[in-house]
Amino acid sequence: MTDEQERQSEIGSLPKELTQAKILLEQGEFKKSFQIVLKLEKMDNLSAQELLSIKLIKANLLYNLGEFLDTIKNAEEIYQESQKQGDLLSSFDALTIQAHALFMVGKISQSEDLIKQAEDLFKKIKETSTIDTKERESFMVRIKANIYSLKGEVHRSLEFNKRAFELAKNTGNKELISASLNNIGNDFIRLKDYDKAIISAKEAVKLNYEPLLLYPLGTLIDVYVLKGDIKEAKVYFKHLGELKEKFDTKTYNDMYNAYDALLLKSSLRARDRIKSEEINKKLALDKTVTYEVRIGAIISLCDLFLIELRLTNYPEIIDEIQPYIQELLDLAEGQHLYLILAETYLLRAKLSLLTFDIKKAKRFLTQAQKIAERFGHTELAERITNEQSSLLKKSNIWEKLKEMGAPMAERIKLTRLSEQIEEISEKRTVLPAFLTEEKVTIHKEKKICLVCRGEVLRFTYICECDAIYCENCARALTDLENACWVCDNPIDYSKPVKLYKEEVGGKNVDNKGKK
Ligand SMILES: [Zn+2]
Ligand SMILES: [Zn+2]
Repeated sequence: MTDEQERQSEIGSLPKELTQAKILLEQGEFKKSFQIVLKLEKMDNLSAQELLSIKLIKANLLYNLGEFLDTIKNAEEIYQESQKQGDLLSSFDALTIQAHALFMVGKISQSEDLIKQAEDLFKKIKETSTIDTKERESFMVRIKANIYSLKGEVHRSLEFNKRAFELAKNTGNKELISASLNNIGNDFIRLKDYDKAIISAKEAVKLNYEPLLLYPLGTLIDVYVLKGDIKEAKVYFKHLGELKEKFDTKTYNDMYNAYDALLLKSSLRARDRIKSEEINKKLALDKTVTYEVRIGAIISLCDLFLIELRLTNYPEIIDEIQPYIQELLDLAEGQHLYLILAETYLLRAKLSLLTFDIKKAKRFLTQAQKIAERFGHTELAERITNEQSSLLKKSNIWEKLKEMGAPMAERIKLTRLSEQIEEISEKRTVLPAFLTEEKVTIHKEKKICLVCRGEVLRFTYICECDAIYCENCARALTDLENACWVCDNPIDYSKPVKLYKEEVGGKNVDNKGKK
């Protein structure tokens, strides 16, 4: 007996429409199923259990329609209700659906918390019930694998995805089998084992579970683009397009657009790149799109802007990039993706150099370094130290370039900006580990250091202007410029202020700060 059959016998006789809604859900007819569920919900002769069961299908549908925020809200309600009724299985289902949706919008630590709860509950269910729990376990294990993968623990993720596949393979549940195979493929991409990635993703495609076929198709497009085989990538993109037309869900449409932009960007024709830019701009600012798609779109945009900047020499293009960089910073900080956050500040530093804003460049470099240090990314911290000393050495060159009005291409070369964008792009696939210290517990008024973006735990330096610095950053700034980044007042009043502007001009002007 499958989980679903079990569930039916658990509930007893269901209204006929409910069975129909379930069948439609399994066939990927999400919109039709949703219509039925909306009607069912309004019926007033339902038992409490029937209502729960209807709501679970609804949450599942919302998830499949890509409405992740609504999924989270609905699953939360189901959880509360099922707790009241002592319905452990429904509680478990609500937790896992919610955890998965939270993961999809990048709320990793919340997702992790719920998965831990689900695991505890799962133990209880296994102790008290004799039903086959393989499908539920496979789903739970797969979400865990996702979380590991996001933390940069790719080998562990692979291990859990393989376990999810083992649990699913004999259940006949195509959705579960296909998803775990696709995720195994994704892990292999991260490990740069493209051939194994292709084998896994193709197996998933062969299962032909159309409602979720977009994922293995996307994996194959990614792999072939990485291998430089655009022709093969387009074969799978065509298939994706046909399914998009058939299903017309938000998830299908967003994914189709993201891959359309990716393939257009790889074209040598300017008009294709303009099209790619337009699509990426929409995706980058759309808060309903998954964070992975959004980060990808922003990185692609930076790439495209840089090509344009090199060709046209228009400094306005840098201003055009700024809002997207801000979006990337907000996204990375909100989701605690500190490696991406640090890399993005490094990118900002380099963009400031393009307009000869040496002071800003140095501040962003300091910030990138402090973030990398604070969150344990030593390798990156070292790289930034090198960037800093190379900038100091090149100060004269930048001054000269400024006087000469050097072309952008030359400035871009000196900053090695393209390499920087590549770095962020790589970090997107192997996302960072975050320290437990920084894990979001629900603090109402968390104090965040202006520089390293970490929580200020013990000693705090608060400037007159209310800017907050952690002890470590306050000390570093005292040694560097001794000025508050917001108001330029000295941090240590017993020491002189060294503002970067003057330093670059060749002379140090002391005590510029107001006393
Ligand atoms: Zn700090
Ligand atoms: Zn201040």
